[in-house]
Amino acid sequence: MWLYQRYPFYWRLILFFRKQKFINVVSLATLEVSGGMMAGQVGLTDFFEQFLGKQPLFINKKVMQANYIPDIIPHRKAQIELLASILAPALRREKPSNLFIYGKTGTGKTLSVRYVLQMLEQTARQKGTPLKTVYVNCKLKKIADTEYRIMTELARAMGRDVPTTGLPTDEVYNVFLSAVDEQEQIVILVLDEIDRLVAKAGDEILYNLTRINSELKHAQLSIVGISNDVRFIENVDPRVKSSLGEEEAIFPPYNAAELKDILEKRALIAFRPGSLGEGVLEKCAAFAAREHGDARRALELLRVAGEVAERENNDIVKEEHIDKAEEKVERDRVLEIVALQPKQSQAVLHATLVLLSGTKKKIETGEVFEKYKEICAQIGLAVLTQRRISDLIAELDMLGLINAKVLSKGRYGRTREIYLSIPDDLVEKLRLKLKEELG
Ligand code: ADP
Ligand code: MG
Repeated sequence: MWLYQRYPFYWRLILFFRKQKFINVVSLATLEVSGGMMAGQVGLTDFFEQFLGKQPLFINKKVMQANYIPDIIPHRKAQIELLASILAPALRREKPSNLFIYGKTGTGKTLSVRYVLQMLEQTARQKGTPLKTVYVNCKLKKIADTEYRIMTELARAMGRDVPTTGLPTDEVYNVFLSAVDEQEQIVILVLDEIDRLVAKAGDEILYNLTRINSELKHAQLSIVGISNDVRFIENVDPRVKSSLGEEEAIFPPYNAAELKDILEKRALIAFRPGSLGEGVLEKCAAFAAREHGDARRALELLRVAGEVAERENNDIVKEEHIDKAEEKVERDRVLEIVALQPKQSQAVLHATLVLLSGTKKKIETGEVFEKYKEICAQIGLAVLTQRRISDLIAELDMLGLINAKVLSKGRYGRTREIYLSIPDDLVEKLRLKLKEELG
């Protein structure tokens, strides 16, 4: 829906981008026509010289990257103190309670946890306390799909070498267990985006992990689970729920003023002084607050706006650059959303795109279903019923990837009329992405 609502504006920008591309092509062509290869080379040399002669907009760009840990983390004092107080017993060689952290994306959960772990480890080192922290993000494709792979990743994070396939899962579990139990120590295991893990591999593994202490002789293990899905904990096995949720921390969304603060502190280090135009921080913050107070999005918008301004030879980031950045970020998100869909939805979308790639602008559910069956046969996917496919089409519509209008066909029932709602060049990218995803 979010995507759909913004289309008119989206389209205008696409046209703008196209025009720009056209101008680039024309100017390069002129270079060649006017003086052959030599002139072309000189032109480029001048271009690079000019580029280097300009004042850069960014003086420390990595500060705007998502994995950078800033020294100051505004508006998370209460949460950081709570995490610190729950984990602090580790410094006295006591097992901290298991902890479950939840909040929407971009509310600073990962950052705050990594920050607290860093400080905790530092103190433990100074005091000579045996403490080990292990951080695993379960979102990573390579680990989140089977229990075996997750256990392999955990064993590796504990410094053990395990083959990618071939051992029984129990054995990998034992490798992990013995690595943890190697010495008297507290091990804090952080499972970030734990909701993804359970969605793909079930909650059995969490149950096993929460029970691990009964098998340990020397070490003690605490688990910190982080979830972007706030309802996740309600749906897991009650035994896991009570064990993992011994302590809980909630990360609420940031409001626009808080986002502006966060942006300002990081922009101060990342950008050349005076390079941010009036209202730029406010606009980024407002955009991100409208979504749900997502700091990642706010930072990304500002970073991309800086890149757009740089490419356009501007030495100041202006509000218009934020608009362009928003379009770009949105496009990337479309691709990301598609990548996150289950294979069945991807197959349905793929079928739709194939059917609508020629001159045809509209199709109906039945046609999609036929094409979908062909695709399933090609890639060895189980075929769902047409009714299910109709539901998946409705979901793709909700995500703003296609438009699907319900048509009543009298006594022949109902069907959906489907057409595309994304610009042509993005369709091409989507098709490539789906090919990659569906293998
Ligand atoms: P979550 O894990 O809740 O999805 P992250 O911790 O990854 O969110 O935060 C998203 C991005 O926003 C990261 O780049 C992070 O550094 C930044 N960020 C979040 N909260 C703050 C804050 N209070 N101060 C500075 N940067 C922040
Ligand atoms: Mg996170």
